[in-house]
Amino acid sequence: MFEPVGSKTNFPQLEEKISGLWKNKNVFKRSVEARRDGQRFVLYEGPPTANGSPGIHHVLARVFKDVIPRYKTMKGYYAPRIAGWDTHGLPVELEVEKALGLTSKKDIEDFGIDKFNARCRESVFGYLKEWEAITERIAFWVDLDSAYVTMDSNYIETVWWAIKGMWEKGLVYQGYKVTPHCPRCGTSLSSHEVALGYQDDTEDPSVYIKFKIVKGLPEGLSKDKPAYFLAWTTTPWTLPGNTALAVASDAEYVVVENDKEYLILASARLDAVGLEDYKVVERLKGEDLVGGGRKEAIRYVPLFNPHEFGVERRRMDLELKVQEPVKDLTYRVIATDFVSLDEGTGIVHMAPAYGEVDYEAGKDNDLDFVHTVDLQGNVMGTLPGHGKFVKDADKDILDDLESRGLLFRSEKMRHTYPFCWRCDTPLLYYAKQTWYIRTTAVKAELIAHNDEIKWYPEHIKYGRFGDWLQNNVDWAFSRERYWGTPLPVWQCQSCGNYECVGGVKELEEKPGFSGFKEPLDLHRPFVDELTFNCSKCKGKMQRVPEVIDCWFDSGAMPIAQYHYPFDNETIFKDGRFPADYISEAVDQTRGWFYSLHAIATLLFNRRCFSNVICLGHVLDAKGEKMSKAKGNVVEPWAVINKYGADALRWYFFTSTAAGNVYRFDEAMVADLSRRFLSTLWNVYSFFVTYANIDHFTPGGEKVTVEPPELDRWIISELNQLIVDVDKGLDGYNPTEAGRRIEGFVDGLSNWYVRRSRRRFWKSESDADKLAAYTTLYECLVTLSKLLAPFVPFLAEEMYQNLVCSVFSEAPDSVHLADFPVADEAKIDKQLGEDIRLAMKVSSLGRAARSQAGIKVRQPLAKAVVKLQSGEEGEALKRVAAQVLEELNVKGVEPVGGEVELDKPGYEVVSEGGYSVAIATEIPAELLAEGVAREIVRRLQTMRRSAGFDIADHITTYYQGEAYIGQVMADFADYIKQETLSQKLVEGVPQEGVFTESHKLSGYEISLGVKRLA
Ligand SMILES: [Zn+2]
Ligand SMILES: [Zn+2]
Repeated sequence: MFEPVGSKTNFPQLEEKISGLWKNKNVFKRSVEARRDGQRFVLYEGPPTANGSPGIHHVLARVFKDVIPRYKTMKGYYAPRIAGWDTHGLPVELEVEKALGLTSKKDIEDFGIDKFNARCRESVFGYLKEWEAITERIAFWVDLDSAYVTMDSNYIETVWWAIKGMWEKGLVYQGYKVTPHCPRCGTSLSSHEVALGYQDDTEDPSVYIKFKIVKGLPEGLSKDKPAYFLAWTTTPWTLPGNTALAVASDAEYVVVENDKEYLILASARLDAVGLEDYKVVERLKGEDLVGGGRKEAIRYVPLFNPHEFGVERRRMDLELKVQEPVKDLTYRVIATDFVSLDEGTGIVHMAPAYGEVDYEAGKDNDLDFVHTVDLQGNVMGTLPGHGKFVKDADKDILDDLESRGLLFRSEKMRHTYPFCWRCDTPLLYYAKQTWYIRTTAVKAELIAHNDEIKWYPEHIKYGRFGDWLQNNVDWAFSRERYWGTPLPVWQCQSCGNYECVGGVKELEEKPGFSGFKEPLDLHRPFVDELTFNCSKCKGKMQRVPEVIDCWFDSGAMPIAQYHYPFDNETIFKDGRFPADYISEAVDQTRGWFYSLHAIATLLFNRRCFSNVICLGHVLDAKGEKMSKAKGNVVEPWAVINKYGADALRWYFFTSTAAGNVYRFDEAMVADLSRRFLSTLWNVYSFFVTYANIDHFTPGGEKVTVEPPELDRWIISELNQLIVDVDKGLDGYNPTEAGRRIEGFVDGLSNWYVRRSRRRFWKSESDADKLAAYTTLYECLVTLSKLLAPFVPFLAEEMYQNLVCSVFSEAPDSVHLADFPVADEAKIDKQLGEDIRLAMKVSSLGRAARSQAGIKVRQPLAKAVVKLQSGEEGEALKRVAAQVLEELNVKGVEPVGGEVELDKPGYEVVSEGGYSVAIATEIPAELLAEGVAREIVRRLQTMRRSAGFDIADHITTYYQGEAYIGQVMADFADYIKQETLSQKLVEGVPQEGVFTESHKLSGYEISLGVKRLA
């Protein structure tokens, strides 16, 4: 006997029970250990940060990380999965700053780096319990007990070793470069971090500025009228840093005039700038404007002479040496190849301190270099808006220019601008010293190893990820922050010599090593105390202040989680590197996917992972980004507690192909749960209920008869399903595999079980009934195994009841079982196509009936079917019996394409090249048969309402007009058989009988049912 299974269940409750069972039986560990001799299958867990609650998108990533290793385990692979936690970096620091009410780096240093970092250390696991709880609840099987933690000393030591390896290859350098700088966090961001923070539709000024020409005006212009270059910018705060103007040497420029002034700009931009009132007085080439290009070069005065505003002027060709004040400072025009004639004026304002191309052009042209903004983003000196944040100082600067008649036009524009991905502050492109990893040195290798990776979806490979590699820039990986892996570079205080340290022992063995205090903590400020003697001059080596990008930490996890090479030297030989599989959301193409790929390429010249499922983002039902501010964040627990983890998992696997965005709608989870999980549950419940009634024992009596076609068909479909699901999961496509299972379950429920019902209901236990039980049992057990990687709870429930309760020698969990193997000899493609045709014709025929308003129980004379080929005509003959039954017609007639079906007396429905017409005229004998069927249906409903058991035999009473009496008599055998009625008795007694009255086809009838003792 199986555990009885009701027709409805509470999935969340069921899952809690199953979760307990796994724990008691230690199933996860055993499932891994049982395959110890198998080939290794390696998942790398991209470490989340546990200093906030897990969101619905974390659930998405975690179930995808789960499904493939579960499948591989069932296929015999040894697949230990190790959890990890990302613990360093700005996200952590920001939370602590908020909690402590600190708003700047000065605040942090006043508070104390040691105390600040201690708070960071405490905060990183603030939500660990919640993470562990949801990980277990959604059945993401991963070893949480041995999780790697990026702040552990061993982990840091491996990261140091990795940096030293790159240092020795000459791949680490310090560059004075313009980097994207977050003025609030006071640190540079890497280009992949910048990519995370672009905001569309940012409002900025769009201003046209006049630069006054004081020397070298083109001949023929009146000296009495002032002349200006016209340039355009969206960052007025950079104007005080202007030290040159750039033009395109080949482009045509014009001098235009009105009664007040001359203006110079590109002729192509005249209309766009709107200078209709001006007259063109001269045309020249860009090169004519360039300093040195003419006898007397054109010079203009800076908008703000740095010396008058208390800021320093440096020279780029003189190692940025500070220059002496010059009262009549003038600047010149340079030619560059990046001047666009598609926007602005064709004359570009250059501020080498605040732009990448500006900086490069400054180096090429020996320009002045003027910083007018400090690292916090505040305007310095006595410049307009000084002490204010640059974006707030824009107005002061423009007001000042306007008062001096130098603001030609001022507007607003909306464009895309980068913001800090963590704190939402607008980033500034800012020239300063930063440590880089020379990833561009291995660009070809980065691209080559990407060729070896399988991406799902495929377009990411040479699209988003490939583009990223093609446009590779060096990795700005130092951070001027506190809570992170310290950059293991020491500098001599005497001679400036740098040394990189690759391990704790190496450091301790340095001559003159001092400053060490127990216990070992490789974080700031303790590591800053460690000093040793310079190998060149014996001076004091002091660590540089920077820590490193936390993406470097997570990207080093393949080795750092094992404390390689200090321990586990064998990871490259025993299959622990590279990973077979990783999965995260698509934004990680520039984050973790990249840092893994870059570090493995830089250190080992190898790929780091072989397969990656790249997930789409989870948006709200309207397609909008979820945010606390909008109040549209979906709380994963709410969904899980209502529908269960399996429902949520199934939604993520099957609702859309991996890579597409999820428009998360609770209604869709509910709908999928109803359509799929509940349908499957109903079949399972149906099976168990009847199998228990009939004392069916799987593995007992053998089926001796040739199985009927219906059984052969579903077994053929089942074996085809095994092939397809295996292929889908092997190809990292759980969506396709899951949808195939959905299709199968639909056919199982709506065709196989529905059409087999009588075989289970009939009272005699014959060979046909045994065949039906055996077949349905095989389908359900196989399904439980196919479903195990997807919906592990429901699969386990079915397996426990259907298999473990019967076979004591079977594995005691479905997750310890082998993945099913298809018996391809049982796949009958022809039969599959025949039945698909029968289903198609039946579905169209039913639609035609419903269109005509004729109930299915009313038999009709015939259906005429238009098919696509003669072969299908033959197929229809083979399945005619089923179609007759399904459509409740007395005949079915295939016709060729030329026959017109839409004629009086017929109702037609067509779809995809198929048409089915039903005859709508009902002869008297069919009308009577229809009434008989209606009576049967009413009686069946009454049996249930009266609370009779499915197998109870009854007496049926009836009373009505003569026509009813005639129908009862004519169809007596049929009615008795269908309703398990021993007798049909005219006259309805009042006592002890369940009665109802109905009107059928216009005839009044009273019915009564009574259970036989
Ligand atoms: Zn920031
Ligand atoms: Zn030295």
